[in-house]
Amino acid sequence: MSSYSKIDLHTHSNKSDGELSPYDLVAKASNNGIQMLALTDHDTVAGLSEAKRAAVKKNITLINGVELSTQWDNKTIHIVGLNIAAENILIINTCKKLKALRKERAKKISQKLSKVGIEGAYEYTKKIAVNGNITRFHFAQFLINQNHAKNQSDVFKKYLVKNKPGYTSANWPNLSETINLINTIGGVAVIAHPLRYKITATKLRKLIDEFKQCGGKAIEVITSHNISKEITTASNYAKKYNLAASIGSDFHNESVSWNKLGELPLLPEGLIPVWKLWDKE
Ligand code: AMP
Ligand code: MN
Ligand code: MN
Ligand code: MN
Repeated sequence: MSSYSKIDLHTHSNKSDGELSPYDLVAKASNNGIQMLALTDHDTVAGLSEAKRAAVKKNITLINGVELSTQWDNKTIHIVGLNIAAENILIINTCKKLKALRKERAKKISQKLSKVGIEGAYEYTKKIAVNGNITRFHFAQFLINQNHAKNQSDVFKKYLVKNKPGYTSANWPNLSETINLINTIGGVAVIAHPLRYKITATKLRKLIDEFKQCGGKAIEVITSHNISKEITTASNYAKKYNLAASIGSDFHNESVSWNKLGELPLLPEGLIPVWKLWDKE
């Protein structure tokens, strides 16, 4: 275990599309050797108080986090906010708005699926999204459960991405608004999984440039898949743009093989670890 990172700053609970309750997630992280954990549910901070209780009990450091959906250049980009003031009314209100947006989008996705003969998606996803934050992950579970696809990657390819029957765009807040919010509530804005956006390298550089200009401070260097070429690429972006480096599994559940909890490699040398931005002592 010693060559694994004891820090994981990107995880999901069942308050968004993870499997475990915030309490169980923290307990599992602790059992797997994690010492500093951020809970970063999609567009909600609802799990943080329960996670905090577990962290106190399990003696691990909990960082308040959130993964915010944003719109940039017609693309959805995920921005992780770390070390945020989760009780701030600005984030509470934004999450409320995002939950409503997700509900509307879920209804639209469901209508689209019924056009290809697949009924009942909204009712099903509403039931399994226990906090009401319905994501495409829940639709994936529905479609697999109804035998429309074999597995997670299959279901996304066939139904849940652009130009497929169960896709609809969402009007997420824009990038600068999101970064401003995170900065205002004392957090650090981090570009999540920078190499997962299916955009060209030129576009990605443009994204990072704008992210910096808007006040973004960090980028994920170690992220879910741990492909060494990607770690090198992301490290180079961190250095080139003078961004701090973050590390997070994007853990959702045990059956997704690419993101086990507690098995992340260490950050490469020569980068500024993101936690140095708040850990001043
Ligand atoms: P949403 O924020 O509702 O658009 O849903 C995004 C979530 O769906 C991600 O956080 C993942 O949990 C999941 N997801 C997106 N794309 C894929 C994919 N290609 N394979 C597996 N899961 C995916
Ligand atoms: Mn997810
Ligand atoms: Mn994400
Ligand atoms: Mn995530």
